Amino acid sequence: MMTSMKFLLITPPLTQLNTPYPATAVLKGWLQAQGYEAVQADLGIETVDRLFTAAWLRAAARGRHREYMLAAAEVVEPVMRFLRGEDATVAWRIVNGSLLPEGPRFDNVEDMEWAFGTAGVADRARYLATLFLEDVADSIREEVDGHFGLVNYAEHLATYAPTFDELSAALQRQPSEVDALMLDLLEGYMERERPEVVCLSVPFPGCLYGALRCGQWLRREWPGVKVCIGGGFVNTEWRQLHDERLFDYCHFITLDDGELPLQRIAEWLQDRCTERELVRTMWRRDDGTVVWQRLNEEAVVENGEPDFGGLPLDKYLSTADMTNAMHRMWSDGRWNKVMMAHGCYWHRCAFCDTTLDYIGRFAPPKAAKVVDMMERVMAQTGVSGFHFVDEALPPKLLREVCEEIVKRGLMVTFWGNIRFEKAYTAEMCDLLSQAGCVAVSGGLEVASDRLLKLMDKGVTIEQTVQACRHFRDAGIMVHTYLMYGFPTETLQETLGALDTVRRMFDEGIVQSAFWHRYAMTCHSPSGQHPERYGARRCSVAPNPFCNNEVDWEPLHGGEQFDYDIDEVGRGLRVATYNYMNGLGLDQPVRSWFPGLRVKKNKNHKSNRSHE
Ligand code: SF4
Repeated sequence: MMTSMKFLLITPPLTQLNTPYPATAVLKGWLQAQGYEAVQADLGIETVDRLFTAAWLRAAARGRHREYMLAAAEVVEPVMRFLRGEDATVAWRIVNGSLLPEGPRFDNVEDMEWAFGTAGVADRARYLATLFLEDVADSIREEVDGHFGLVNYAEHLATYAPTFDELSAALQRQPSEVDALMLDLLEGYMERERPEVVCLSVPFPGCLYGALRCGQWLRREWPGVKVCIGGGFVNTEWRQLHDERLFDYCHFITLDDGELPLQRIAEWLQDRCTERELVRTMWRRDDGTVVWQRLNEEAVVENGEPDFGGLPLDKYLSTADMTNAMHRMWSDGRWNKVMMAHGCYWHRCAFCDTTLDYIGRFAPPKAAKVVDMMERVMAQTGVSGFHFVDEALPPKLLREVCEEIVKRGLMVTFWGNIRFEKAYTAEMCDLLSQAGCVAVSGGLEVASDRLLKLMDKGVTIEQTVQACRHFRDAGIMVHTYLMYGFPTETLQETLGALDTVRRMFDEGIVQSAFWHRYAMTCHSPSGQHPERYGARRCSVAPNPFCNNEVDWEPLHGGEQFDYDIDEVGRGLRVATYNYMNGLGLDQPVRSWFPGLRVKKNKNHKSNRSHE
């Protein structure tokens, strides 16, 4: 069946520089399979590609940063060619110090030999070129557009925003020069493609402003075109949305996987289904009434197979903002981002959005289907590296996929998120390595057995350490996600957690780590039943705009913690940054928190008693 409707699927600025975010590719694959035409655009990488040019930087040079921007304009194009992988020889000029104007971020670059040794010219150059891009981005932010960041745009306006007011005010102002550039690119797509429906995918808060700017422009300049907004950010933050002003920027807001909602919207627009058949969609009718949600449990059991066709794959940049090899996996290399299975097979962790579809609905496909998809994506993109963006790869399916890869003799390289399961035996890790797995990331979270049990993580420290040893022995790098500030967590437990992490770095079984501060979200078990975790919510009334993170306090009153949690966060980050660079591993963990004490607050009541 062929229909006449055409979709333009857009990732607005800005997500990441090294590879496309996969949402539009998955939707494109699905819509095409239903007989629709679909094209996609990553306006983020295209905007960056236009900003980091000699002509744009020269025109933008002004104010205190004028001299620096003019100097940057002289060299930016060879640097971009190097980062795109088009001209490796530029690396020699970058490392010998004769090319780049050195902005503030170069102040701390002294002896890089400890990090790269005497070889590794390309790696050194990539690191320095990334510092250069960040310095240029800082200049753009200070002189041209206060919202600009290298991998996000106006993120602060969308993060923890209880009302739409601030974002709305920013959108009422004249478009900035960066906005204008983005809209110019959008205009080009609209003229060339002439779609009936434009879908704006918002995976992160750092692309919401860009999406709304595009929606605002489309509604004004292309009034016959329907605009949809959806994506990961929308799925978590807008479930209780109640601000009609959003519909000045779009016609439809979709929740959870976009395949079925978009398909139904298209059918409705073509009078092929009734309004009642719209699913997981909010919209404003022509008479102005708003239908806030068509909550319909209907889900697509099979997700779309990604189609990366049409994306400017040669424009992505391999960057490195740290010398650490594992940390660089996120920004270096054009990995094919794909999903092995929908949802998380565990879906129990107390801090995680387990009540939402993208975590709570686990739907594993057959291994052969996953490997078929990998072969097709490789043929399309010409890249054999895969980043599995599953919340947690299911070990049984992962094993079968590895066996299938080995059986077919496929040469692939891959990495992804796992849980530190007992399933990761020496034999399993060898199989993973043989199939092409080079790195895994997984949560050790609070690194305290008491708290891991309380949060129902389903792993222990011992089990994690054992799994990490097997990964190390198989040559697979490990990144671990860590968490501090969980309800009832004591200072002593946090220091103990850091010491566990220090020992793991020292043993060489973890290569990189990152500490997140615990955030109570309304879609997580701890947000829905905080009393089970020694906490209570300060307010349960929903905001009219974003609703995800909620304020909490200890169950029995008092401050959240009897120590300075911000100070603890700083110490944890500094210590771990040093560990990632192989430094400070013999220092007592207490030394990273000079002056930190447990507060003597008479009103503070410990809530450990609920254990
Ligand atoms: S934190 Fe990870 S393992 Fe736990 S439920 Fe969420 S996705 Fe699954």
